[in-house]
Amino acid sequence: MSKIQMKNAIAELDGDEMTRVLWAVIKEKLLEPFVDLKTEYYDLGLKSRDDSDDKITYEAAAAIKRLHVGVKCATITSNEARMKEYNLKQLTRSPNGIIREELDGTVFRAPIFVKNVKCCVTSWKKPIVLGRHAYGDVYKNCEIKTDCPGKAELVFTGEDGKEIRKTIQIMKGPGILQGIHNMDSSIESFARCCFNYALDQKISVWLGTKDTISKIYDGNFKAIFARVFEEEFKSKFDAAGLEYFYTLIDDAVARVMKSEGGFLWACKNYDGDVMSDMIASACGSLAMMTSVLVSPDGNFEYEASHGTVQKHYYRYLKGEKTSTNPVATIFAWTGALAKRGELDSTPELVDFAKKLEKVTLEVIEEGLMTGDLARIATPAASKVLNSWEFIDEIASRL
Ligand code: NAP
Ligand code: MG
Repeated sequence: MSKIQMKNAIAELDGDEMTRVLWAVIKEKLLEPFVDLKTEYYDLGLKSRDDSDDKITYEAAAAIKRLHVGVKCATITSNEARMKEYNLKQLTRSPNGIIREELDGTVFRAPIFVKNVKCCVTSWKKPIVLGRHAYGDVYKNCEIKTDCPGKAELVFTGEDGKEIRKTIQIMKGPGILQGIHNMDSSIESFARCCFNYALDQKISVWLGTKDTISKIYDGNFKAIFARVFEEEFKSKFDAAGLEYFYTLIDDAVARVMKSEGGFLWACKNYDGDVMSDMIASACGSLAMMTSVLVSPDGNFEYEASHGTVQKHYYRYLKGEKTSTNPVATIFAWTGALAKRGELDSTPELVDFAKKLEKVTLEVIEEGLMTGDLARIATPAASKVLNSWEFIDEIASRL
């Protein structure tokens, strides 16, 4: 059999611990026998980031911008404990934070459904993709606690010297205050990312805010989304038979619970923080959740949404063949390969990626799965496999 050829490379960002171990197995067993893999390799393992003072992370981000497609393994975000464990020179920044900043991207997370892991919300038949605006609002706030009566004001001093001043409240006793902000440019990028992602996935977009109460702040989100949609996306959405639907956030939540899923839910920062955890938990397992970072100018970085599965790694180091679920990491690779194939017009690569996804889910649906899924599957698993056996089972069917 001749291998599938790739026209262009993808940026390959290797990572840490258990996911790094599985990364190599996935490549060896599921990818390299079938595809003549072309990647630009960046070792984002903690030691390599530390040795290069994070230069390697910036190089990897630049490679994603140049090649337009990247795939990333989970990485350790360093802290005091890791500094000792890995004998680091310094506390390095979160690589995901650096890459998100470099790509000016939005993160989209979607659960992977299998028939025998039932979602708690029975009406959800298709995945709900959550797009979280990852800038501003309460995540960059300024707060005051007061201990006496007084006047609270909101003041903006323009670079042109003009001042805008509004009274928030005449406070008759001690209380609390909070200042938050967002930027038109960031909301525009967020809107473009959401509409582009939805077009790519052929799904509609929902946005909910509380603009009836927050007429200026949330009203600005509503207005910018409406404008970006009208000016740049309406005709493409019409052609694809998709819609952009705006409603109040509480109405959105009520409708989401009764919907059958299959759309992109664009959420303001706080709503996205809360609602993405709700969706992940309702759908069963973190290891069955994909994540992609999309930049407004069309760069894509695929990853698993879970971390490096540290506890399993320590057991692996002691010689145990752990039953760590590789599905989200496999789907990071298939996402990247399918996107590469789409951008390069190589349908055989797209086809391979889809087949690998299909076979992976088939194995689970036939009752062969890793321990995390076996704990929640109905009917019960016919066999609980370790990661190596699970990957071999997929490979044998490919
Ligand atoms: P984690 O790696 O997501 O794992 C937490 C727990 O979730 C595991 O102990 C395991 O539970 C379960 N789990 C997660 N993924 C699994 C999988 N694929 N298969 C089976 N079980 C899975 O989070 P963490 O242990 O808190 O973090 C470890 C490191 O990951 C940290 O250094 C953190 O900085 C990093 N991290 C990286 C990313 C990223 O790169 N995107 C994201 C999050 C965290 P059981 O032990 O009960 O089996
Ligand atoms: Mg959260």
